[in-house]
Amino acid sequence: MKSLIATCSVFLIILTTTIAAYAQRTTFTVGTATAARGQKATGIIEVPPGSDGALSIPVAVFHGAKPGPVLALVSGAHGTEYASIIALEKILNLINPSELSGTVIVVPLINIPSFEQKVPHINPVDRKSMNRFYPGKPDGSQTERASFLITKQVVEQSDHLIDLHGGDTDESLRPYSYWTKTGNQKQDQISRDMVLAFGLDHIIISTDRPKDPGASRYLENTATTRGKPSITVEAGHAGTVDTDDVSALINGCLNVMRYLKMLPGEAKAIEHPVWIEKVVTLASEQTGIFFPLVKRGTYVEQGMKIGYVTDYLGNTIFEARAPVSGVILYVCSVPSMTKGATIANVGVVLK
Ligand SMILES: [Zn+2]
Repeated sequence: MKSLIATCSVFLIILTTTIAAYAQRTTFTVGTATAARGQKATGIIEVPPGSDGALSIPVAVFHGAKPGPVLALVSGAHGTEYASIIALEKILNLINPSELSGTVIVVPLINIPSFEQKVPHINPVDRKSMNRFYPGKPDGSQTERASFLITKQVVEQSDHLIDLHGGDTDESLRPYSYWTKTGNQKQDQISRDMVLAFGLDHIIISTDRPKDPGASRYLENTATTRGKPSITVEAGHAGTVDTDDVSALINGCLNVMRYLKMLPGEAKAIEHPVWIEKVVTLASEQTGIFFPLVKRGTYVEQGMKIGYVTDYLGNTIFEARAPVSGVILYVCSVPSMTKGATIANVGVVLK
């Protein structure tokens, strides 16, 4: 019995020392950026060449003077969702590591080829969405290799993650966030508090995300399936950088940091948000010219005409009607329309 107690105490001492060492980690490294306590460091996550070219992803690490959780803020998986990228570019100048408790990892632009070449939705190098191939592969194409390193260096080192998106160049989107319900009550409570602290007033409850950490697909889901309470947020539309969208994203991140006690001050939560239980996509049945009849954020009734498609000589070839009653989360913002492409996403409000 005595030896059992002795063994247990030794184990406990080792465990506490390990936890203490971790909590007081003197430096924090992501990619080539190593920050000492109370310091900021910048560097790159270097994705080596493989079947296609190399990619250098910029990263900033703010290692707080006081201990606390590690939060990752990531945007630009889609390099033309500009408002989200600009929000994180601005947040780089708003975080003061000497006043911070914990550590913030900021990756403002993953998909540099998309940004530079102004190609929406995909990485033009391998034609893949940079938010669909997590947890990635070390020997895959550029998107998969980048996703692999982000999983290892950003997700695995974090306690929480916020993935920032917005409407792409062809999407007129009203701001909303996603709350992923895993079934783990403790984790779901924290991620729910995070999404309420973020403050966007429309929240999609997602229950259909993959549960397997080895096939997590999305960035936020890569953190969520690894037991880290995390959220996805969207603001910005159709290539614009509106002050309202950018401010909503910046203030949301800072308020989540208050909720996590990384910054001083009270984290005010959004009251009575609109909870969305399901998102239904309306796709075009024809290729042609799209004319919208609704704006982002419009509430529609099932069957209501929300737009139409003509051929290139003005004849209507498809009438787009709301498949369900709900709110237009986004509607196609350009006339180019192809068969099977999204006309609008309708959010069904939880009753
Ligand atoms: Zn996106």
